[in-house]
Amino acid sequence: MTDLDRLHDLQLADSALDQMAYRRAHIEERLAFNAARAATGAARSALAANVARRDLLEQQYATLEAAGLQIDTKAGRLEGQMRNVVVTREAEAIQREIALLKSKRDEGDETGLLLLDQSEALSTEAVVLAERIAAAEAAEAGAAAVLALADAALDAEASATVVRRAELAAGLPADLVKEYESRRPAFKGVAVARLQGTRCTGCNLDVSRLEIEGLRAVPSGELPECPSCARIIVGA
Ligand SMILES: [Zn+2]
Repeated sequence: MTDLDRLHDLQLADSALDQMAYRRAHIEERLAFNAARAATGAARSALAANVARRDLLEQQYATLEAAGLQIDTKAGRLEGQMRNVVVTREAEAIQREIALLKSKRDEGDETGLLLLDQSEALSTEAVVLAERIAAAEAAEAGAAAVLALADAALDAEASATVVRRAELAAGLPADLVKEYESRRPAFKGVAVARLQGTRCTGCNLDVSRLEIEGLRAVPSGELPECPSCARIIVGA
């Protein structure tokens, strides 16, 4: 068995591990966990938005209350003035002003009640949202436990291949393994292909007899490559 044959075995082990990693990323348990986590995130965001809206309402209410107190002070002052006014025209003007302030105050009170109503509705919603978060967190924890079991099973399944991969790599020249690994990304993980008859298993194209002769004549220290896909080719 040549180094190239062993390199091809290393490739097969890596491809098997790649497939397992892909499967691991797409198992139902992971999708369920991701969905559960997204649901928790959505519920938390909804509560945060609710709290922000309530804070804003509280600010608006506080502003309104401060304005109301100012109106009261002003109205009180005017009422005080009223007691000292003797000219009817002046008294009427002050009265009009007081009436205006009173209607402004009433308007503010009505708005304040609306704000309190809205705030109360949001508080009720917050309770529901908090319950939703608790339920979502429990579901997420459950999904995480199920996923951990599934991952452990996949780890066990992959462990033999991981060991075999390590053995194969250890039995090859370090430079060759390094070269192979540096080439893998450019070939979506498959940097080594076997020649089956005259067909490259990497690109499924035929290699001509003349090209096969050329592959056989590649000097030691150089790597034979498929003329079509440039993968390292084994079995020429
Ligand atoms: Zn090829």
